Amino acid sequence: MQPDYTAILETIFAEVQPLLSQGKVASYIPELSKVSAQHFGMAVHCLDGSTYSIGDGGQKFSLQSVTKLFALALAFAREGDAIWERVGREPSGNPFNSLVQLEYEKGKPRNPFINAGALVMTDILSGRFVQSDIAVLQFARTIAGENSVDFDMAVAQSERMTAHRNYAIAHLMKDFGNLHNPVKAVIDSYCRQCSITMTCAELAKAGSFLANHGTIPWSGLQILDPSSAKRLNALMLTCGTYDAAGDFAYRVGLPAKSGVGGGILALVPGELAVAVWSPGLDATGNSLAGTYALERFTTLTARSIF
Ligand code: GLN
Repeated sequence: MQPDYTAILETIFAEVQPLLSQGKVASYIPELSKVSAQHFGMAVHCLDGSTYSIGDGGQKFSLQSVTKLFALALAFAREGDAIWERVGREPSGNPFNSLVQLEYEKGKPRNPFINAGALVMTDILSGRFVQSDIAVLQFARTIAGENSVDFDMAVAQSERMTAHRNYAIAHLMKDFGNLHNPVKAVIDSYCRQCSITMTCAELAKAGSFLANHGTIPWSGLQILDPSSAKRLNALMLTCGTYDAAGDFAYRVGLPAKSGVGGGILALVPGELAVAVWSPGLDATGNSLAGTYALERFTTLTARSIF
């Protein structure tokens, strides 16, 4: 029997209120620091088309690293297993913007969800498309079924001006021969990609193909074959929330991808996609209230992959 999602979202919404002041909004991208930590939104998109939303579930926010999932899906759909020659598929156990493993692992990032791996995805897509960020944007519009999805140029510009760490990562990979395009072009594309905004409702809808064996449930368009979709789900579980992936699996038990804008997309394979947004982050850069909300969601619905 389908749980009463409306009642469950209302319960979660009430429960998270005291947590909203506990997280810290990302400030290393100056434009993101302007967002209030008090926001909370959540939306569920079931594969049968039913949708549920609460709080700020209809408000746009900066997807940031959630877009790494779109870039990976696009690159994997186009290039298949060839991408694994340039990026690994192991959890890093390090912060998303860390450089430490790159040197002794000769410029090959641990996985596509940390910044180093995402920059390699941008580089791969740049070899395929005239502009990789436009390709990711078009892809995001297709899977969300929403042509109004767009970049936030103020956020992109703000990140570009302060992207010293990502420049360092990109230059190191360039030195090892794992970045084929000019560093500045890759960073610019990456920053625009990260600035894409969506609402929780749009994001849950956009993620639903990954809960549906790679096929968009509401249009029938196959984005990935079932085996590839299964593999992306596995990567989300093991690497989607950076060095908190183990704790996230323990507490939430779903494949997920987070971003420093405070968004998290999670999947209940075969059933639904759920998106949550709350800009206050924990020490690992994941939404504090968002993670708690998903923990309560899987508890109250008795759904997880375990
Ligand atoms: N654009 C951000 C960065 O590269 C994305 C990081 C994130 O969301 N974890 O730092």
